[in-house]
Amino acid sequence: MTGPGYIDAHVHLRDAEGLADAKEAGVAAVRDAGTRDGAGLRVSAPDATKVISAGWALCKRGGYGSLFGVSLDTREQIAAEIQKLRAAGAGIIKVIASGMVSLKRPGEVTAGGFDREELLFLVDAARKNGLEVMAHANGEAAIVNAAEAGVRSVEHGFFMTEKALASLHANGVFWVPTVGALQRVAERPDVGYEAKRFVERTIDEHLSQVRKAFERGVPLAVGTDAVLQDRRYRDFYEAELAFLRKAGLPGDAIFAIACEGGKKLLGV
Ligand SMILES: [Zn+2]
Repeated sequence: MTGPGYIDAHVHLRDAEGLADAKEAGVAAVRDAGTRDGAGLRVSAPDATKVISAGWALCKRGGYGSLFGVSLDTREQIAAEIQKLRAAGAGIIKVIASGMVSLKRPGEVTAGGFDREELLFLVDAARKNGLEVMAHANGEAAIVNAAEAGVRSVEHGFFMTEKALASLHANGVFWVPTVGALQRVAERPDVGYEAKRFVERTIDEHLSQVRKAFERGVPLAVGTDAVLQDRRYRDFYEAELAFLRKAGLPGDAIFAIACEGGKKLLGV
């Protein structure tokens, strides 16, 4: 059961009303990872106190992520976009540091993401505007690059490795594993049997990395990656907690991750 005090560190607010789903599920605050039109920035008081919004994501031109944000090429564009987001009321900067888990090429990540130097520049530019960064990152290289660049959190983090976990730990970076996001992709009717099997194996491995992260002391938070409004929202949140149980985390630790972990990450 969800209840008051839970935090969702990764949703996408398609409109200001999307917050109602989270409230109904007893989720006290959400972090909006962005939509192309920045709908999350338009949530008005008093609900604005319960939403940290990235507005829209920053993506490398030609790569994954343009559905959730703006495509950029140069450092000048990156710096200008961050200033624009701050002026629009963003509470966090969302960057796409890699592609997504490929279902066509098992084990690979699709094209996309800023490189190491660009991430360093971006995190620095965000800090100059008083903002931290949340990074969509899958695969060891992107996770390590994001962590070393000083992002606040790594989102998804599929294909996590020992080296990547060590990098999160050393840099005090949160991991928001969004397990259900991949699970839901595999449930689509157009996804074939082999791809479904691959996703099952990937999730099993993901959960074993989540357990290692917990044991190592990597800070964790719960994120559903739900695109709101969505009537299934409560199920999504409960599924995420169930995944943490499946990973072998103790119940009190899961509760702490869902509440205190999220609060600390969001700064609420
Ligand atoms: Zn997302």
